[in-house]
Amino acid sequence: MTEDKWSQLRQRLLKTIGQNNYTTWIEPLEFDVLEGGVAIFHVPTNFMGNYVSQNFADLILHEFNLSGEPVQRLSFKVASNSPVRPARAPERAEEPYLELADRNVELENSAPRAASATLGKMETLQAAPLDPRFTFDSFVVGKPNELAHAAARRVAEGGPVTFNPLVLYGGVGLGKTHLMHAIAWELIARKPDLNVLYLSAEQFMYRFVQALRERRMMDFKHLFRSVDVLMVDDVQFIAGKGSTQEEFFHTFNALVDQNKQIIISADRAPGEIKDLEDRVKSRLQCGLVVDLHPTDYELRLGILQTKVKQYGTSYPGLEIADGVLEFLAHRISTNVRVLEGALTRLFAFASLVGREIDMDLTQDCLADVLRASERKITVEEIQRKVSDYYNIRMSDIIGPKRLRSFARPRQVAMYLSKQLTSRSLPEIGRRFGGRDHTTVMHGVKRIEELKQTDGQIAEDVEMLRRALEA
Ligand code: ADP
Ligand code: MG
Repeated sequence: MTEDKWSQLRQRLLKTIGQNNYTTWIEPLEFDVLEGGVAIFHVPTNFMGNYVSQNFADLILHEFNLSGEPVQRLSFKVASNSPVRPARAPERAEEPYLELADRNVELENSAPRAASATLGKMETLQAAPLDPRFTFDSFVVGKPNELAHAAARRVAEGGPVTFNPLVLYGGVGLGKTHLMHAIAWELIARKPDLNVLYLSAEQFMYRFVQALRERRMMDFKHLFRSVDVLMVDDVQFIAGKGSTQEEFFHTFNALVDQNKQIIISADRAPGEIKDLEDRVKSRLQCGLVVDLHPTDYELRLGILQTKVKQYGTSYPGLEIADGVLEFLAHRISTNVRVLEGALTRLFAFASLVGREIDMDLTQDCLADVLRASERKITVEEIQRKVSDYYNIRMSDIIGPKRLRSFARPRQVAMYLSKQLTSRSLPEIGRRFGGRDHTTVMHGVKRIEELKQTDGQIAEDVEMLRRALEA
């Protein structure tokens, strides 16, 4: 790999990502060397390295591989005269998880290695590097995620296996992958000899199919049965994929039998994953199943404050006006990824134009994000979703019937209307067939109580809330 080749590659990147992105993010990268499948770059700031690795790494890797350079990972080093990186994790950040995966690949390939370009590409796909930013230190704990966090901490201690598997589930961008990586980092730090294998369900499937094709099933089985800790992210992906599920099931059982820890994530509760075999479901439900709830305002604000502290080291002197973070925490919905993206963009924008981050700049810079999150949930929408959910007619929710089978869903709908819209109690009452505001208040209270005592109601409300906020 030569400097020359890098500049050709850059030209292709320019075409793909456009001049603006290119100038801001790619141009300042200084290519250093390609070493053992790792392309090393110098970047002016840690922030920049993070940003590039988060947003453009796949693309850059792809271009490398297209150009015939088998690169598995990118590494960004902050030029030494730039602000120092945060203290935590970077040493280990340098330690490529890939090496671990590669060792395994080596193992698989003890037969003569079919050294072809395609193989190089496959390994790229398999690689599941751990993100150095995803540690427990950088994970902000709040009500919605405290249980998941506590469970993750416990497993990360690496003590005797108490709950197996640990299943973390929740909507997109709520920190599942972050927690999984944090567990892996922690385990590796505490017990360097432990063979921790983290991969997405997609990668699991990919390896499986590859092993089938190359008639190396024995190697595959051996490989997966020899790990100490198996982490499979986004397991919903294997739903409906017959033979992959089957193999996953066997791998799973073999490891559980050996008392090896398994950690799984999914975008919904195991029981609700469509096309997931019942035996897999029930296996998953055997362990500890905890969910990450949608973020609340406090958690969002906490996350923003933490991120600002991190960015601060990369952007010394950049000021944030009072109220901006609170505004963002209010306005940007539940997904932390969106929240982070907004903040990243704010910082980049402010530093480019050399301005303080105040409300004006925020409104300008984030107009699209703010507009997207403006979508308001209406009482009618809630009534419709709730009636669908309970399989009754919308007119029964609004109408006067006092039957229990209508009254309870009606109260759920009232409760959600209070929670998810800015309507007042009288306004809500009017939309429920002209009921009095005290009726609405009673309904809301009733559901609040029931949520504490009746698991089914709590689950219904949560499901509905998710569906509405999606
Ligand atoms: P998921 O896998 O659930 O879709 P991720 O783990 O990828 O979500 O999280 C999305 C982004 O939000 C990541 O950058 C992650 O670091 C961040 N994030 C999510 N939850 C938290 C949290 N509680 N504290 C700090 N960062 C978080
Ligand atoms: Mg994820």
